[in-house]
Amino acid sequence: MININNFLPKNMEKRGKISLNENIKIINNILEQRTIPEEGISEEHIQFLLRILSFMDTDKDPNVIQIGEREARVLTRIQKESVFNFCHGVGRSGNLIDPQPKAPGASIMYKLTNQILESFLKKLGLKVKAIATPIATGMSIGLALSAARKRYKVDSVIYPYAAHKSPIKATSFIGLRMRLVETVLDGDKVYVPVEDIEKAIDKEKNPVVLSTLTFFPPRESDNIVEISKICEEKDIPHIINAAYALQNFYYIEKLKKSLKYRVDAIISSSDKNLFTPIGGGIIYTKNEEFLKEISLSYPGRASANPIANILISLLYLGFKNYINLMKTQKKCKKILDDGLNEIAKKKGEKVLNVENPISSAITVKNPIDVAGKLYNLRITGPRGVNRKDKFGTCYLGEYPYDYLVVNAAIGVKEEDILRVLEKLNEII
Ligand SMILES: *Cc1c(COP(=O)(O)O)cnc(C)c1O
Repeated sequence: MININNFLPKNMEKRGKISLNENIKIINNILEQRTIPEEGISEEHIQFLLRILSFMDTDKDPNVIQIGEREARVLTRIQKESVFNFCHGVGRSGNLIDPQPKAPGASIMYKLTNQILESFLKKLGLKVKAIATPIATGMSIGLALSAARKRYKVDSVIYPYAAHKSPIKATSFIGLRMRLVETVLDGDKVYVPVEDIEKAIDKEKNPVVLSTLTFFPPRESDNIVEISKICEEKDIPHIINAAYALQNFYYIEKLKKSLKYRVDAIISSSDKNLFTPIGGGIIYTKNEEFLKEISLSYPGRASANPIANILISLLYLGFKNYINLMKTQKKCKKILDDGLNEIAKKKGEKVLNVENPISSAITVKNPIDVAGKLYNLRITGPRGVNRKDKFGTCYLGEYPYDYLVVNAAIGVKEEDILRVLEKLNEII
C-alpha cells in the first residue's frame, strides 16, 4: 500500500516491512475476527486502528467539496481528539445503528464495537444481540421504554421499588405512568415479592415491567427469573436494569436463566462494567426485533465518543484480563466482608444479612456523620443511610437499622479495601 522501496539496502527494507506488517497484522486480526481478543492489544495499536478508520470519513478527504449544513467543521484539534477524530458521530437521524454516508469509518467502528461487545457477552455466557449506546444507563432505560411504548403499546411501567432516581426519571422523561410495587422487609432484607408484581400486572392494561438486578443492600435483587416467567406467561414486555451486572457471575447466571423466558432488553452501564468515562450504555437481548426498535427510537445522530470508549476498553482489556478482574473483585468482596464482620463484632454492630456479590452494609450510629468523615478522609463511595430515609433504604416503612454501605466493585484495589476497613475501625 505504501512505497518504501529503494531507500535502503534490500535486507534492511525487508526487515522494515516485517515490523510494519506485524503491527498491521494486529489491526487486521481485530478487523477479521471481530471478537474480543483473548489478550488485550496496546494503546498504540488501538489508536492506529481508530486513526485508520477515522481517515475513511468524508471530512478527512482532502479534496472533498462540502456544501451541507453539517459537515463536521470542527474548530480545534482538542475537539477532534475528544471524539477520536470521528467528527461526524455515529448513526443516522432515523436509526442509531444505520451506517452514516458521510462517515464510513465511524460506521465501521460502531459495527465493530457491537460485534465485539456481542462476543464479549457470549464469552461471559450470554448469547444475545447487543448495541453500545451513546447515553448512560438511565437514558438507555428511557430509550428501551420508548421502544416498548411504540412496539407493544405500553402505557405504564411496573417498577418494583428500588431507590435509584435514573429509572424513575427515565419513565417520566418518556411520559409513561409508573406503578410502584412496594418492597417488604424480611429480616434485614428489603425485597419485592413476585406475587405482588404479578398482582400489579393484572391491574394494568398494557404494562411493561422494569425490574432491577443490581442494587445496594438492604434492597436485594429482583427475582428476575420468576419475573421473566410471569412476563412470558402473561405476554408482558420486560426490561431489566442490570447497571453493573457484567462484573460478577452471580448476576450473569441470573440473566442467563431469565433469558430463557421473557426479557426484551437488559441495560448495563459502560462505565460501571467496562472502565470507560461516564456516558455510554449497553443494551442486549435475544429479541432482535426489539433491539432494532430501540435503535429506531433514538432521536438523531450521536457522539462517537461513548461508542469508541467501549471499543477501546474491550480491545485494551482482552477477555482473559477481564476474567482476572472479576476474580479480584470477588476476592476483594470476601476481604471486605471478613473485615466488616470483625469490626461489627468488636463494636457491637452487625453486617446486614443481605445477599449481594458487590456491596456490603454494616450497622452504624450516625451514618451520615460516618460517611461525611470518610469523605473528609478522602474516601469516596461509602453511603450512609438513616433508617428513616425511605428513599435510601428502598423501604417505605421504617427500617430497623442505620447503616453504611461499602462496595467492592470491579477495579477496586485490595489495599483500598484494607484502608477503608482500618479507617472504619477508628471512626465507628
Ligand atoms: C448506576 C445505576 C443507574 C443509572 O446510571 P446512569 O448511568 O447514571 O444513568 C440506574 N440504576 C442503577 C441500579 C444503577 O446502579
